[in-house]
This record gives sequence, structure tokens and C-alpha cells, in this order.
Amino acid sequence: MPYDVLLRNGHLTDPVNNRDEVCDVAIENGRVAAVGQDLGPAREEMDVAGLHVLPGLIDTHVHLSSWLGGAAGHRMLALAGVTTAFDMAGPVDSVMELAATHGTGLTIACIDYVRPGHTVGTTNPHMDELRDHLVRARRSGAVGLKVLGGHFPLTAEATARTIALCAAEGAHVALHAGTLDTPQDMRGMREAIELAEGHPLHLPHVNAYVRGTQDHILMETLEAVRLLEAAPNVWSESYLAPFNGNSAKCANGVPESVATQRNLLKGGFEPTLSGMEASILAGWAHVHMAVDGQNVLATGEAARLAWKEAETDIGCSFHVNPPEARINLAVTKRANGRFAVDALATDGGGIPRNDLCDRGLALVALNALTLSEFVVKTSAEPARMMALPSKGHLGIGADADITIIDLCRRRAVSSFGGGRPILRDGRVIGRGATVLSSREAHPRLNAMGLDVVFVEPFQFRPCHGPTWQNDTKGEATLQTR
Ligand SMILES: [Zn+2]
Repeated sequence: MPYDVLLRNGHLTDPVNNRDEVCDVAIENGRVAAVGQDLGPAREEMDVAGLHVLPGLIDTHVHLSSWLGGAAGHRMLALAGVTTAFDMAGPVDSVMELAATHGTGLTIACIDYVRPGHTVGTTNPHMDELRDHLVRARRSGAVGLKVLGGHFPLTAEATARTIALCAAEGAHVALHAGTLDTPQDMRGMREAIELAEGHPLHLPHVNAYVRGTQDHILMETLEAVRLLEAAPNVWSESYLAPFNGNSAKCANGVPESVATQRNLLKGGFEPTLSGMEASILAGWAHVHMAVDGQNVLATGEAARLAWKEAETDIGCSFHVNPPEARINLAVTKRANGRFAVDALATDGGGIPRNDLCDRGLALVALNALTLSEFVVKTSAEPARMMALPSKGHLGIGADADITIIDLCRRRAVSSFGGGRPILRDGRVIGRGATVLSSREAHPRLNAMGLDVVFVEPFQFRPCHGPTWQNDTKGEATLQTR
């Protein structure tokens, strides 16, 4: 029987299965059927000589809702070579809607925000209210909750309650550091780890807390590494882009987000509607403007018009991430050899900074990461955190989630999700989406046309539990230590 697809003569880099060599990869029924030399025949053959074949890239921090990121996110992720992505805010209903209407073949998961005035009543929601929200979010397809501390902070007590609730219910939980009384800098990071009280916590974009506002930036970077090393319950990611991602939406004459207000002040602008406008014209606030089905960073008059047209409800970015933190947090290791920050993510999706290949492979070019280490941080480790034993590697029987890259150009060329093409020679051809979600959301998501992979409670959590093990046949599985 011929295979469905045969990738010929690519350089396979699969650290979970200890492979780093030129060979063929055969795909059948959506899975890896064979890896080696002289495989075949196949109904379709792709000559990928000169290219690198990697386990599909998993971006553990993206935005794919109409609130943040927008409809273009699926296409932007596909172009960036990503095959699985984790939406870090919701709102979950919007994420599912856009996945159904704008999917490009990715596997996605989503956590829903705990936002005063939107999903909870106040900045100090009590346990019952938080529990009701988690039940609702899971029914809609979310795998857990996100506290948006830096943007829409809760009290420290409510933040801790959310983390404890998700621990008890076996749900994922992420905290953008910061509470009502503590800003999202090193003070916010210290507080976040304290508030977790040893429970599993996903600490997103660690680099966003390390901006040299409290101490020399290298001292802050070292402190961040030490904090993570001392907190094995915390799973973390950081990103490499110099630009952050905020909302430019204003209400009652001021930007809604605390982070946006702070970044306007940082650039020397008033934290108001007119300050926002002036900063767009001056080139400080970069508006996320739609051009040819993608969002790009824009300034000046065209950007101001796009912002006005959207009635200010549009994303914006500021150049606020210093390189010392971005680069060191991506490459630094703990004493035990593991990375200090578990994964390299982008905080991208519809936010224009899907740079796993562009900037991540620049670290490989610098010999700051090996290509195997790049795969660990962008596929193997994310798959482990998301409890996806059939992703993150390309052993026999693994999902045929594959990203084929041009290492010299630092770009994804082609990709597959479950054996189906997502990106082919730089063109997006994938459709639909597969959602990792709770069992109770299945009928609803299915009716929307989405494929569903069940996630049981306690399965998809930000912890360091299971590790990759290779059995005697060389097949990779996730084992609990
Ligand atoms: Zn984010």
C-alpha cells in the first residue's frame, strides 16, 4: 500500500526521538507512518531536500478573538509555520466563532478571561462567581481561565482564588502578572508566584515583567530566572519581539487598558484619547492595521484613520521590550539543564509578531540555541504542557503535524496538521480547525463545524508532571515521573 504523502530528503530534527539527520518521513491516515531511508511508494511525494523537517510548531500564547487579534490570526499563524496555538484570553465564544469561519487547519485551545464588567461583576469576584464562570467557560469550549492582571487587574485575593479554583477543578490557569495594587513589573512577577501558593500556574510572557524599571535589567533578568527555578509549579513562556501588544480602545476619553495608559506615559504622551491619537501620528503607538488579510504594524495618518474607523477598538503595539531580557530569557538554562523559561511563544496570532521562525531561528543562527533546542522550546515542551503525547515529536504513530522550514531564510515553507496541508510553498491552503476542549462543549462546537479533541479535567494544566520517555521501539510517550 502506498503512503499518503512522502517527504523526501529533508533534514529531520526531532529531539524527543533523538533524530537529527537527512531522511524521509512518510504520512498515512494523518499520522507518521515511517521515518528512514528509501521509503515509498506514496500517492504524493514532496522533495524537501535542503529544508528542515520539524515537529509542528506549537505557539502557547496567541490571540484569535475579535476582541484581540481578530479574524486574520489563523492565516497569520499558518504563514508563520504554526500548527497548534493556544489563545491566552478569549473571549471563548469569539475564538470558537472565528475558528469556525476563518480556520486554516490549526489545532487550537483557549482560556477565557476573568474580566470585571464582562465575565465577572467586580474586581473582587468571590469563589462562587469564579466557579460559575469556569463552568460557563468550559461549556463554551475553554480549557481554563486567564487573569489579565496587567490590563484589567483583580484584587490579589481574587487572583489567588482563581488560581486555587483552577487547581481544584483541574483547569488550566494563566496570570498576566499584576493586581489592583501591584504593577506588572518584577513586583508583579514576585507577587504572581506568591499568589499561586504552589498550585500550577501558567506565567505568560515573562519578558513583559523584565523591563528594567526596578533595577538594572540584567539583575531583573537573573531574578526572574531564579524565581522560576524556585517555583516548579510555574510553567512559563517568553517572546522575542521588541513590540508588546495592547488595545487602543478608549472609553470615556481614556484607554481602557491600564497597560496602554502606562505605555502612553512611557512614550511621553497623555494617557487619554487625544494622547492616543497624538502617539499614533508621532509613530509611538503602532496600530494593528489589516493589509491583504494580515495585520501589520502601522503609524501615521493611515493608522490614525484605521483606529478612528474601528471606533478606537483596534489593537496597538509599543516598542517597549528591551533585548537584554528577551534574548536572555529565551536561552538561559537552570542548574538542572532545563530552560529557565519553558517555552518560546509569540503573544501573536492576530497580533503581528508571529516570529517563532524569524526571531527564534535567528538565535539558532547565532548559536545561542541549537535547532534541537529550538524544537524543544517551540514544540516538544508545549506539547508536554498541553498533554498532547501525539504532538511535539515525529515518532511512528505521532500526529503528522509537521513544519518544514528554510533555515537560512528563517521561514516556514510548508506545514501539515494531522497529515493535511496547512501551508504549501508559502501559501495558506488549510481549512477549518480542531479544538482541544471539554467534553461538554463537544456538541456545540461540532454543530459549528469544528473538530473536537477532548481534554479531561486535570489533563491540560500548566505543570511539569509528565516527561518524554522513549520505549524500546523508539516510540515517544509522555510518562508521569
Ligand atoms: Zn497575550
